[in-house]
Amino acid sequence: MSEEIRAKYLDILNNRFDYKLQAYVLDGIVQDCGHQDDDECNCEARRYANRSLDSVYEEKGWNLKEHQDTQITHQIIADKAFDKALADGRLSKNPSASNYEGNYMFMGNDKGKDTFKHVQSRKYDV
Ligand SMILES: [Zn+2]
Repeated sequence: MSEEIRAKYLDILNNRFDYKLQAYVLDGIVQDCGHQDDDECNCEARRYANRSLDSVYEEKGWNLKEHQDTQITHQIIADKAFDKALADGRLSKNPSASNYEGNYMFMGNDKGKDTFKHVQSRKYDV
């Protein structure tokens, strides 16, 4: 993977939910879970809030670069699937269209067909 591609996608990875840690990340910093009341929620987001993702991964003995490369590879596959679905008319760039791309998550390729799930209805209807 080229450094150019890596840099482009790192900006995305540093500003979204980190599935491995199960916490939101903003500018590379772990965000507090926001769970209410004083109960010990014991979640990773609370435990590692306000720390850099790099330092948390290092403390856990997790390989951040490997984790990022895997996610970037998946993201590139997803981006290609979205581009193809838009070109084929399965998805639309029009926010008021029922098949607006922003309402769908790429769920992988099943027997040669790219699958997309609606984020609210959870239906595979495109
Ligand atoms: Zn929590």
